[in-house]
Amino acid sequence: MIKRRKTKTVRIGSAKIGAGYPVSIQSMTKTDTADVSATVRQIKALERAGCEIIRVAVKDTGALAALEKIKAKINIPLAADIHFNYRLALEAAARGVDCLRLNPGNIYRREEVRQIAQAAGKRKIPIRVGVNSGSLRSQVKKYKEENVADLMVKSALDYIKMLESFNFYDIIVSMKASSVAQTVKAYRKMACLCPYPFHLGITAAGLAPEGVIKSAIAIGSLLLEGIGDTVRVSLTGSPQEEVRAAKEILQSLGLRNFSPEIIACPTCGRCRINVVKIAREVKSKLSAIRYPLSANGLFTIAIMGCEVNGPQEARDADIGIAGGKRCAALFKKGKIVKRIKESQIVDTLVKELGKGEEDALV
Ligand code: SF4
Repeated sequence: MIKRRKTKTVRIGSAKIGAGYPVSIQSMTKTDTADVSATVRQIKALERAGCEIIRVAVKDTGALAALEKIKAKINIPLAADIHFNYRLALEAAARGVDCLRLNPGNIYRREEVRQIAQAAGKRKIPIRVGVNSGSLRSQVKKYKEENVADLMVKSALDYIKMLESFNFYDIIVSMKASSVAQTVKAYRKMACLCPYPFHLGITAAGLAPEGVIKSAIAIGSLLLEGIGDTVRVSLTGSPQEEVRAAKEILQSLGLRNFSPEIIACPTCGRCRINVVKIAREVKSKLSAIRYPLSANGLFTIAIMGCEVNGPQEARDADIGIAGGKRCAALFKKGKIVKRIKESQIVDTLVKELGKGEEDALV
């Protein structure tokens, strides 16, 4: 069991962020925010994929004008990502967004921040203090890669103190570098220095699978230590891919359950069936099913290449198959219960999963 770091609870619209609530999944649209229909279409697809908070770039008056129309058509909280121009933050708050993300690297003048804090406080909108190593590079004279973690912590703390001086406490913190080690170091250090929930991520992680691996190492390391309350996997690719990766990270740590887990052996010279093909087919059939929340993640399905080792190696799985000669042994919790033809493997597993799900719901 992961013991989460104690934090304050911060609300982003209907989503509660903090230690008492599940680690939530965020993404960011990649459309021009001013294009309402394209942006809403992308957000709807993200909602279906499991995104729980969506952020849009607000870079100009065109994007500002779109915010209310977008918000009216979506079901998840909407965060506005603001850089450089504090007036965009004031206007976005007035237009009803659920959260403001500010970058201390480019909106930092005290009077500007005071006005934003006042506008956000009036509407009970949280502010994410979103430090980014790239912005620090241009801001800090003695910038050195090896000091990035300390510089990010200092930047976030200074900003937090400034917001607190305006009696503003609805704060979420993020400190993203493209270095896994520096990002992890920054969050670890900050974990003891403030009570606010953390948004985790790696900046500019890149293409999948490299970006997913990098993000999973950083986000996963922190979550294992109980650090982190909401995550975004930033990928150069489709935002749905970001959400899928985030779900995998959270499910693999046992923090959230989204679907039955498939374990499959890597195969070896003892393999009697086409494990890769069967695993892919089972995965594809299961991904088409929407599981009721109460039943999510109750099952582990094992697809093992041989009977010699399979049932034993996967004895913790709820159900599984182990390959034989043109057949397979169906086993439950490591005990073989019957034999089936190779052609029946996929349908049998999916059917058995349905039965188990009904039992679990009784
Ligand atoms: S289950 Fe059998 S086929 Fe699969 S890796 Fe183990 S020994 Fe090899």
